[in-house]
Amino acid sequence: MTDNTRKLKRKRVLSGMRPTGRLHIGHYFGALSNWLKMQNARLPDGSPEYESFHFVADWHALTTHYADSSQVATNTLEVATDWLAVGLDPRTHDNVTLFIQSSVPEHAELHLLLSMITPLSWLERVPTYKEQIENLREKDLGTYGFLGYPLLQSADIVMYGEPGKQLLVPVGEDQAPHIEMTREIVRKFNFHCGLRIDTQAMMAALEYPQGAGEISLIKATLDRAEGLSGPGNKGGGFYPSSIDATTLEPRIRRLAEASGLRNLSDTFLKFENDFQEFVGAHAAFKKYVHFDEVLEEPDVILTETPRVPGTDGRRMAKSYGNAIWLSDPPDEIRKKAHNMMTDPQRVRRTDPGRPEVCPVFAYHNLFPPEKSAEDLARIERVDRECRTAAIGCVDCKKLMADALIKWIAPIQERRAKYEANPAEVWNVLEDGSRRAKKVAEQTMTRVRKAVFNWEGAGRKPSDERKVVAD
Ligand code: SF4
Repeated sequence: MTDNTRKLKRKRVLSGMRPTGRLHIGHYFGALSNWLKMQNARLPDGSPEYESFHFVADWHALTTHYADSSQVATNTLEVATDWLAVGLDPRTHDNVTLFIQSSVPEHAELHLLLSMITPLSWLERVPTYKEQIENLREKDLGTYGFLGYPLLQSADIVMYGEPGKQLLVPVGEDQAPHIEMTREIVRKFNFHCGLRIDTQAMMAALEYPQGAGEISLIKATLDRAEGLSGPGNKGGGFYPSSIDATTLEPRIRRLAEASGLRNLSDTFLKFENDFQEFVGAHAAFKKYVHFDEVLEEPDVILTETPRVPGTDGRRMAKSYGNAIWLSDPPDEIRKKAHNMMTDPQRVRRTDPGRPEVCPVFAYHNLFPPEKSAEDLARIERVDRECRTAAIGCVDCKKLMADALIKWIAPIQERRAKYEANPAEVWNVLEDGSRRAKKVAEQTMTRVRKAVFNWEGAGRKPSDERKVVAD
């Protein structure tokens, strides 16, 4: 396998996180553990299976927190410190890039260009739009930035698509509709900007016999596809002098819309294969109609994440005050473990408990994720002794806290190192932003060409241009 084939086989993954500050164990199991798996996954030949781009979504933070952006920078540092602390590391894994969204301004440019073709109704129907407005009533979210955030998300994703390479977004089931909208936007963009029909060349071709034959074949195929002619005759096609080439472009576009852009060429090929009189139609089509998949449609990787309850049994969330942070010192973890909610029906020490409804038991199962025989024996023992009231909740919580503290110790050791040297964290983000920007520039070169084709009109490539101020 050549280096290039190997790189193409490698799947591209894009995933981001808002700068909300320190991360908790819910973030670890909800996202970071998957990111780590992808960092370390290898193909049979030993090369990395994934090329991952993870970004701090600082512009996204502003869509809801525009009134106070004072914590964005500090929170960005906290998030990145936790990423490095859990073991993500672009310096030892060149298939991983960690970057800051606003350091790659191409994201904003692509967002703007996609906004030109995105119907408002697509954004208004995003399930989380109304839900979030309801949930965050104290904020005025009647802003364009908030309505447009799923579109910014689409731009973030498709920026890292590369022709011939699979683009993946790890999401939970509830977020899959967002990615479906991104796919629809990509199809619409490619339809408007990637499909080029050379009407001028078709008009010129009508002036000579071979060209006129080609245009007749294209028209005849369109007639048949639109049901204007039946099997055995090509319809009113073989009178080139009667063909107005300018009418063919809208008909080809309509067919592309009906059949799907990717199937357009196949429609011509099918007629050519099925009917003798259409031989040459596909070649003629390819001569005058060109299609570039400027942007790649992303696919989802559905991630199964274990439920990580907060210390009060509800979903773990900063706003509920029920989180255990990756940076909590051991004493704090013990205190939080001691105060954790248990099976509400186990009121007295002698009452048998139900581990399956107890958040403490859920934590026993989580820590550590890779279990030794000793860990399995502990879990089995707690399960058995809880049901017979042989173990009390206080002792059970101590055992769980021990397991959690043991698992989290190396993360905290790394975190302490990065906390003492924030410049190292910023360097990783800055290097990553430069790497991400290189990929984004390649995408935007394709996008700008598809939208404007400046160079086709003789303008110099953008990096050679000089901006002249008044
Ligand atoms: S013994 Fe443990 S698992 Fe059982 S209810 Fe108490 S804390 Fe929960």
